[in-house]
Amino acid sequence: MFERIKLPYDYADLEPHIDAETMRTHYDKHHKTYTDRFNDAVSKAGLENKSAAEILMNLRDVPEEHRNALRNNGGGFYNHNLYFESMCKGGKKPSGKLEKMIKEQYGNLDALQEKLDKVGTADLFGSGWAWLILKDGKLDICHTSNQESPLEAKNPNILLPIDMWEHAYYLKYKNEKKEYVKNYFKVVDWEKVGERLEKAL
Ligand code: MN
Repeated sequence: MFERIKLPYDYADLEPHIDAETMRTHYDKHHKTYTDRFNDAVSKAGLENKSAAEILMNLRDVPEEHRNALRNNGGGFYNHNLYFESMCKGGKKPSGKLEKMIKEQYGNLDALQEKLDKVGTADLFGSGWAWLILKDGKLDICHTSNQESPLEAKNPNILLPIDMWEHAYYLKYKNEKKEYVKNYFKVVDWEKVGERLEKAL
């Protein structure tokens, strides 16, 4: 059975950047539904002995009748666990290797955040995700549609997700996507991102 991560903060801890009502709806409704449906799809496809990452990286090998349910709900499960785990009260700054790579490749954190913002708010059309990943030993930015995961394109080294579905921001920010992204960055746990980088390198 796949389980949602336990939130490492309370619903209201990310206020005013991410509001408690959005957190409650997002985690308790949307994320729960993806997780329940993923478990259902996994059991129908007989994949209980695989990890979520293994399933998402090998969707092509799954019979077609199960593929969409696994992609949509498996991605929903996996992406949201990463997303909720990427935030913390007050946010944390990058350090060590991560800080050094950001400086070398982008100049500073603001410049990297600007690039991520552009991919999430302009390049991506409709619902999906913007991602900071590690590719060929370097930081890289990409986006996926719907609940697709970079894992499907064999990019396992996800460092930071940005949920660009309306349910992630609409209650508070309405159509102001850029305001949401700007505020998301205020609660990003870059220490966590740094841990993912260390594991990936
Ligand atoms: Mn979401």
